Amino acid sequence: MKSEKITAFRTLLKESERIVFFGGAGVSTESGIPDFRSATGLYSEKLSQHVSPEQLVSHTFFERCPEEFFDFYRKRLIYMDAKPNDCHKALVALERMGKLRAVITQNIDGLHQKAGSSRVLELHGSVRRSYCMDCRALYDEKFILASEGAPHCRACGGRVKPDVVLYEESLDMEVLDAAVREIADADMLIVGGTSLVVYPAAGLLHYFRGKHLVLINKTATQADKEAALVIHDSLGEVFREALVGLA
Ligand code: ZN
Repeated sequence: MKSEKITAFRTLLKESERIVFFGGAGVSTESGIPDFRSATGLYSEKLSQHVSPEQLVSHTFFERCPEEFFDFYRKRLIYMDAKPNDCHKALVALERMGKLRAVITQNIDGLHQKAGSSRVLELHGSVRRSYCMDCRALYDEKFILASEGAPHCRACGGRVKPDVVLYEESLDMEVLDAAVREIADADMLIVGGTSLVVYPAAGLLHYFRGKHLVLINKTATQADKEAALVIHDSLGEVFREALVGLA
């Protein structure tokens, strides 16, 4: 059963020339980066209440309790030692074969770029970038990790904010538009490691007009019935096996 699905996936990859990959948290968990929502919240003295992981990475919390925000951010969102896995590597290989046009990701870890992908649309931003809210000076994650409390700009003293879309904040429209265009122009869309419940994942799929929609996820999703091929398995394994003999 599994090998039949891998063979079917390989056949679709062979036939396709404008592949787009849309990935969720499952791509990163295979590199040892846990979904931050699995973290337990903490007690905020300033707010006098327990705070859920979602609240911890909200705009409100960033504004009201910046020290606690950055404490959680440093511990739970930045994984300096994480390495690209077989899914990241396969997408780089597909790009080099001239088949893959873009990677659209909901993850903020920058692992696709670390693996070598050149066109990555980060819907939720990246922990690898931060910026001064006043003068727009740029900082990397090492600066954030080395700082204490709420970091401030070395040039002007302004507040530094991660280039990450926090809860209550809207997505970058340029990135979202680019993602829509890539999906609308693709002949194959591979959706991996997402349950498709987090905005805007499910909505983006509606823009796909190509031939092959493939879903790879450990558990079932609401879009399974619409897909040409559904594989409930590890992304890394599926990609590694499917790419054997493809080049
Ligand atoms: Zn500044």
